[in-house]
Amino acid sequence: MDLSSTIVYAGGSFRRYDEAKVGLLTHGLQYGTGCFEGIRGYWSAQERELHLVLLREHYQRLAISAKILLMKLPHTLDELIDITAEICARNAFETDVYLRPCIFKSAEDIGVRLHNVPDYFAIIPVPFHRYLDTTKGLNVCISSWRRADDTMAPPRAKITGLYVNSALAKTEAITNGFDEAILLSHDGHVAEGSAENVFIVRDGTLYTPDPSQNVLEGCTRRAIMTIAESMGVKTVERSIDRGELYAADEIFFTGTAAGIAYVASLDHRTVGNGTLGPIAKKLAETYQRAVHNQEPQFASWLTATYASRQKARV
Ligand code: PMP
Repeated sequence: MDLSSTIVYAGGSFRRYDEAKVGLLTHGLQYGTGCFEGIRGYWSAQERELHLVLLREHYQRLAISAKILLMKLPHTLDELIDITAEICARNAFETDVYLRPCIFKSAEDIGVRLHNVPDYFAIIPVPFHRYLDTTKGLNVCISSWRRADDTMAPPRAKITGLYVNSALAKTEAITNGFDEAILLSHDGHVAEGSAENVFIVRDGTLYTPDPSQNVLEGCTRRAIMTIAESMGVKTVERSIDRGELYAADEIFFTGTAAGIAYVASLDHRTVGNGTLGPIAKKLAETYQRAVHNQEPQFASWLTATYASRQKARV
């Protein structure tokens, strides 16, 4: 991916990607002491507008992640929203995008710690790429890696270093011929995918691990629960056993990058009849409409980047 001329926001100003550099000894790189977000923007050719999804919610989560690592975002939520819209406008994207805000410990010295280290904030936009193929079902395995436990490092925070856990699980799954992994928590309950939350359907009810099961509190997870509620589908947040996954009528993942991706098989056992189940289908369709500004009841999830810029310039 050649991002060299992409406009990013880094260290307090807008600049080209290739002009924003970090040093080799940077703490965030050496010790994984940073946190980040992944935000999606969907381009509407008809409206000539780029809609950013759940921007406020993502920045609220980033603020919490940063707080856990003893950092503070250098801007208010409103400023962050404004800067993010400005990045999109300066790049004049006319495609779907993925935005990567991050804040990390920027000292270049030896000595792992969180205290007395300056930090650095950046937002990097990249043109969209599809993360998981959501048009067909995924063949998934239970990972031999366990999800990091909150007593080790809090998975509730989107911490860069914690993604070693996800990377180990994802690569194990792929090299063993699967598409994705589900990680169990330390005590053997279902946690989440390598970069997605997990839902199951049993007898018309949705179940998903509650936030105390070492999961990231996903923005898409919350959105899906809201859509489900609007359809009269109940969601129960509770611990889920591995065996219950095998018994489920439907299993699907949710995530900003992935959207909604359904699981066709788990550990070589077909889920339902191996096709997109009726509840996941309805939720996925509504979610897709919502992020493309076709669901007025969920319009507040979107930030219309270009319209707000034009207004600001008048
Ligand atoms: N769990 C993990 C570990 C993730 O990396 C992600 C992606 N951010 C998710 C869940 C889904 O979260 P969201 O819906 O906010 O993207």
